[in-house]
Amino acid sequence: TAELKEKRDSVLAEVFKHKKFKSRLQFNAVNCILKRKCDVYVSLPTGAGKSLCYQLPAVVHGGITVVVSPLIALMKDQILGLRKKNVTCETLNSSLTNEERSAVLSDLNKKNPNTRLLYITAEGAATDSMKKLLASLHKRNLLSYFVVDEAHCVTHWGHDFRPDYLTLGSLRDICSGVPWIALTATANTKAKDDIILQLKMAHVEAFNAGTYRDNLFYDVCMKDYLNAAPEKHMAAFITKCLTPQKTAKELCKEEKGARQANVKKMSGSAIIYCRSRNECDNMVTTLATVGVTALSYHAGLPKNARTEVQEKWMSDEVPVVVATIAFGMGIDKPDVRVVVHWSPSQNLAAYYQEAGRAGRDGKRSFCRIYHSKSDRQTLNFHVSGDIGKLKERMKKKKATGKEEEQIKALQNGFEKMIDYCETPQCRHVAIAKFFDDSDARPCSKNCDFCTDPKSTKRMTENYQSLSVP
Ligand code: ADP
Ligand code: MG
Ligand code: ZN
Repeated sequence: TAELKEKRDSVLAEVFKHKKFKSRLQFNAVNCILKRKCDVYVSLPTGAGKSLCYQLPAVVHGGITVVVSPLIALMKDQILGLRKKNVTCETLNSSLTNEERSAVLSDLNKKNPNTRLLYITAEGAATDSMKKLLASLHKRNLLSYFVVDEAHCVTHWGHDFRPDYLTLGSLRDICSGVPWIALTATANTKAKDDIILQLKMAHVEAFNAGTYRDNLFYDVCMKDYLNAAPEKHMAAFITKCLTPQKTAKELCKEEKGARQANVKKMSGSAIIYCRSRNECDNMVTTLATVGVTALSYHAGLPKNARTEVQEKWMSDEVPVVVATIAFGMGIDKPDVRVVVHWSPSQNLAAYYQEAGRAGRDGKRSFCRIYHSKSDRQTLNFHVSGDIGKLKERMKKKKATGKEEEQIKALQNGFEKMIDYCETPQCRHVAIAKFFDDSDARPCSKNCDFCTDPKSTKRMTENYQSLSVP
């Protein structure tokens, strides 16, 4: 209706301070969610603005929107952001003190609560007290939406399966008639079908962006076929990616000016993913010897040290972070110019996700994997280990009944990751095919294969001919 549209536009401008919608898809998803006529599935790449798809309707409709989010840190970010916009929001999670919890609950028990968005964890959602709360809100006609953010956590066809998410579907009955909104950056159609099934969503309207991101340049380097030591090769690449492209005029000026003026100004940030804590620390040391300052980030660091690293990186004090995959989820930095994987991810879904942290601002960014035969072996070893654990669990009582499929997903994701690295073809197409994205066309200029098929083929052949160490 006209009134709804007017409200939509004024909330977008006055509360969220955006001039327009970020994309056609964001616009369409918001409109559909605003109508509250059906469940909605939104798959947009990281950074595309999925939060707005439910936050704007939550503000427009009033009442309470419950949001499930996988990490307390993610929730805190969202809440801080919303409070800056004067949107009242709260969280109920295990990190609250008793006083904090009662304050939130007492507002929710009011006739007209001030809370617009309530962030909870999947773990918390499964508790009796939360079920009671949801039932009470629903009975009082206060529930506007039930939102599942990072919805891929409910399926092992995604890249971050969390068993806690499996219980969410059972809340469906408690809030019958309330539209459910599932959001994810996963473009995987298998994941999509499974998410809809697990969350028991009905009459779903889906908004899918597809996998292709035209500002990302993907390539693969074989460590054994470089013209330099791999670490040096990578350091040079990072430096290049972080050095802004100069215009001809600027270059000319520089030539005329003093030669010593080659103190390069860096711009943007880089993430280098390594497999282990040790590898991160060693890489930081190696990078230092070639003049690249970087910080290490992994689960072995104390929490405050991790926060410090993250803050220094976010504020551009240190442009390069060398991290394990513990780093990145929910991090919203627009100008990540390069994501390097020092070895491939365990599966292609995870790789797409991690590499996708580059270039959220839409500007040219680079995603590179350094690969070798020994990386392949190590990876195979880890994946087999994970599969072994699942097989063990199948024999035990704790089994979720999903293990067999999970094993299939692990195996498939691993094989496709290796194919991605070892088959000379458009990297964008490899990704699109993996996700069953029907729109799989060669990129022509956004990957190593399309820009130089000959040398990419040669590199792969050389790699294949190398005997296993
Ligand atoms: P996602 O959850 O899809 O990864 P977010 O919801 O975190 O993305 O949004 C990413 C960034 O995009 C945020 O900084 C957000 O403020 C910004 N954003 C969202 N919608 C718009 C818009 N319509 N115009 C401009 N920026 C937007
Ligand atoms: Mg998000
Ligand atoms: Zn290509």
